Amino acid sequence: MSVAIIGGGACGLVVANILQKNGIEYTLFEKGSVGKKILASGNGKANIANIRLTKEDYHGSSLAYRIVCKYRPKLFSFWKSLSLQTKVDEEGRVYPISESSLSVLTCLCREKLNLLEHCGVERIDKNDGKYWINQTYGPFDDVVFSIGSAASFVEEKRKNFYQCLQPFDLAFHEIKPSLVGFRCKGSWKELFGVRCKCSVALFQNNQEIHREYGEVIFKKDGISGICVLNCSSYYAHLNDPSDCSLILDFFPQQELHFTSYEELNGWVHPKLATYLKRYPLEKIPYVLHHFRLEITETYGLEFAQVSCGGVKIDQVDEYLRLKKDPHLYFGGEILDVDGVCGGYNLMFAFCCGMLIGEALCNTK
Ligand SMILES: Cc1cc2nc3c(=O)[nH]c(=O)nc-3n(C[C@H](O)[C@H](O)[C@H](O)COP(=O)(O)OP(=O)(O)OC[C@H]3O[C@@H](n4cnc5c(N)ncnc54)[C@H](O)[C@@H]3O)c2cc1C
Repeated sequence: MSVAIIGGGACGLVVANILQKNGIEYTLFEKGSVGKKILASGNGKANIANIRLTKEDYHGSSLAYRIVCKYRPKLFSFWKSLSLQTKVDEEGRVYPISESSLSVLTCLCREKLNLLEHCGVERIDKNDGKYWINQTYGPFDDVVFSIGSAASFVEEKRKNFYQCLQPFDLAFHEIKPSLVGFRCKGSWKELFGVRCKCSVALFQNNQEIHREYGEVIFKKDGISGICVLNCSSYYAHLNDPSDCSLILDFFPQQELHFTSYEELNGWVHPKLATYLKRYPLEKIPYVLHHFRLEITETYGLEFAQVSCGGVKIDQVDEYLRLKKDPHLYFGGEILDVDGVCGGYNLMFAFCCGMLIGEALCNTK
């Protein structure tokens, strides 16, 4: 048995490790260098999982939740087997104890993997039931697609990203940016750089879609921050994203009253205090509880941490095999699944790798 793994990211590297350990022949094809997104994740600290889990942490399909429920404990054992030590913060986020994403990648590459780096897969042919890669490499019995998504790549690099999937006539959900900041109407230059904690709610017309508390960061033309990125993952799933706004409450559950503008400097960032001077003093408590930013668009796929959309999940079975060709496996971000911030996306990709690796070993 011989397996082609396409994409040396979180999912592909786990599959490669499992096959290697079980003596199954494989080749891992990587168009650049392995683990780039792992290295970039969590601001270089790699938030690789989360010990808290609810169905709402994943959009797209309940399959993602079921996969993670089943494979998360195995994932922790897998990391132990690679000597990767982890720690958990107060939000349940799991990090390598070194706080370095390089530790994660180094542990995943601890074994000498059968890896072809800088070898992008552009073409896959099937002859007599076997697969050939780029008309050169093969024959392979099974192919694992762990190519991730076009999120975070500049437009030039996004071209032909999904080309290697073309021969398989797959149904796709439109790719949209998720976990990304919003551009908002008006100029926010005055508030550029202000960071503060508040409650953020995504509204469409008058309907609240999502709310959470956390830090926001004002940009020149919009807003970012983890709770804003999470709002973007709900925004990405709206069929029609028109008439959306963010309403910030800087002091939830706190009654406010000001007797002078000068007092504001003791409550909020001085840039925000200056900005608020455009309102009559008696209106400022209301503004601080209902600070409205009208969304024009997200910052785009180039700035997104993940994509919403991808290979429609109803085309794969419980082992992530394509129903119409069970020698083709799909795992990680290529699937139409996206999670919120907090380690859920890497955890899903790693768990898919565990599942696919196990499934391939069982069909040996
Ligand atoms: C800046 C940033 C920060 C992030 N932080 C976090 C975080 O802290 N926690 C979290 O859970 N998630 C985070 N994510 C998301 C997370 O990194 C991804 O969801 C995860 O890496 C997806 O894993 P994957 O294996 O599906 O794809 P990837 O890790 O993207 O791997 C896919 C690999 O396939 C390769 N490839 C693509 N096409 C081909 C081809 N045709 N031939 C050969 N190789 C190919 C790519 O070069 C890539 O190396 C972050 C993402 C970004 C961009």
